[in-house]
Amino acid sequence: MQPPFSRARLNREFGNLVERSRDRQLRLAVTGLSQAGKTAFLTSLVNQLRHAGVEAKLDLLPAAREGRLLGAQRLNQPDLGIPRFPYDPAMSALHADPPRWPAPTRGISELRLQLRYRPAQRGWLTPDIAHLTLDIFDYPGEWLLDLPLLQHDFDSWCAAQTQPQGEQRQALFRQWLDGIDTLDPTAEADETELADLAAAYADGLKRAKAAGFSDLQPGRFLLPGEHEGAPVLQFFPLPETLLAKFSLTDTERHALPENSVYATLAARFRYYQQHIVRPFYRDHFRRFDRQIVLVDVLGALNAGPERFEDLSRALTQLMQSFDYGKRSLLTRLFAPKIDRLAIAATKADHVTPDQHSNVVHLLEALLAEPLKELRFAGVPVKALSLASIRATKIREVNENGTRIPALLGTTLSGEEVLDFPGEVPDRLPKADFWQQQGFDFSNFRPMPTPSQALPHIRMDAAIDWLMGDKLV
Ligand code: GDP
Repeated sequence: MQPPFSRARLNREFGNLVERSRDRQLRLAVTGLSQAGKTAFLTSLVNQLRHAGVEAKLDLLPAAREGRLLGAQRLNQPDLGIPRFPYDPAMSALHADPPRWPAPTRGISELRLQLRYRPAQRGWLTPDIAHLTLDIFDYPGEWLLDLPLLQHDFDSWCAAQTQPQGEQRQALFRQWLDGIDTLDPTAEADETELADLAAAYADGLKRAKAAGFSDLQPGRFLLPGEHEGAPVLQFFPLPETLLAKFSLTDTERHALPENSVYATLAARFRYYQQHIVRPFYRDHFRRFDRQIVLVDVLGALNAGPERFEDLSRALTQLMQSFDYGKRSLLTRLFAPKIDRLAIAATKADHVTPDQHSNVVHLLEALLAEPLKELRFAGVPVKALSLASIRATKIREVNENGTRIPALLGTTLSGEEVLDFPGEVPDRLPKADFWQQQGFDFSNFRPMPTPSQALPHIRMDAAIDWLMGDKLV
């Protein structure tokens, strides 16, 4: 038996205490492109933690399985300049009759929780009950698409944004393309004309977004928030073909008067870089400890090959914000400190459980390059599939003596349907997948929930990866 006051034990106990007090706070960020399921995830996360001690089913989270996680309480958030995540309205929507999906958040929001748990390892300096303060942030993944914009000047950004793109996508920008065809970059800027053209460009981006495209810049044009209508959002790229018509050398171009179309657009681009993109990374992103990136892989699979390709491009770009290689743009600019990352395919309740491992394989295939780089840079990263708020039940259908799994759910228009969504490929789909089989599912309405805790799939696995190590 150990003597009660051995020096080694005292040191160890003291170390634990320091460690625990240092770990008392965790800043967790949730992101994803719009419609990826951020609002649903945040709502479910807060809900599961609040009901952890009682009704929530969190068997994959050891602290909950062992009965040590006692629940969570909301506290006032420290950053008074950030909107509070609207948890109560979200729960009201889910508890409405019929239940509705919560209205999505449009910008950054925050919510502070205090988790109460019993430490697993007991010692005479360990408190009976410990606390973890969890600051949860949610922000649009579209904002991360703007990181690459920081390494450009206006000319190189124009070249990157206006290189030839798919026909379908180009058609969505037709109005803007027709509008700039007669624009003279050397002429004096006409504010109204620039505002109209910028609106047409933003419209193109929004239409492309609605059509399922994701590789869209500048990100704030899609979710302008407080900058709606401000001149900082009234710029657009000038296509090389347009600039070529005026055959200006670089020097001539840069010597154009300040009030010329070219110089005005370039100045607004620089302002956007310095006053919109940079502050987000400097004031928020740099301070996150943990991050989960949500991806609607199944939605993209449903939308067809061009959008799936586009999602892949957008994700590669978005993931650059987690590239911590020594020479990466991000590390040079902001020295971020995220020490654990999760990538999750959302809405897993849209497929039968036998397909879940394929969903993860597909997600890993989609993110193969960024995942390789993250692992190489030593950032712990985990890929998983989950449903924040499960909207379907599993049924087995007997077809000619074979039992086939199916999904039972209620469509958004209120019709109860039995769905066979099809097989998810376990690698990037080739042309024959789209031709022969494709993939098809309808959107479901959330189920009425008699329990306080929302039904989910693997939220507990996500919570364990993101904060389980702080609850020991
Ligand atoms: P956000 O734009 O990233 O905040 O996305 P939301 O959380 O608003 O989710 C967009 C839509 O995806 C919702 O309105 C739902 O239709 C659907 N959705 C989100 N999470 C789930 C889920 O766990 N299961 C199902 N079946 N649908 C979901």
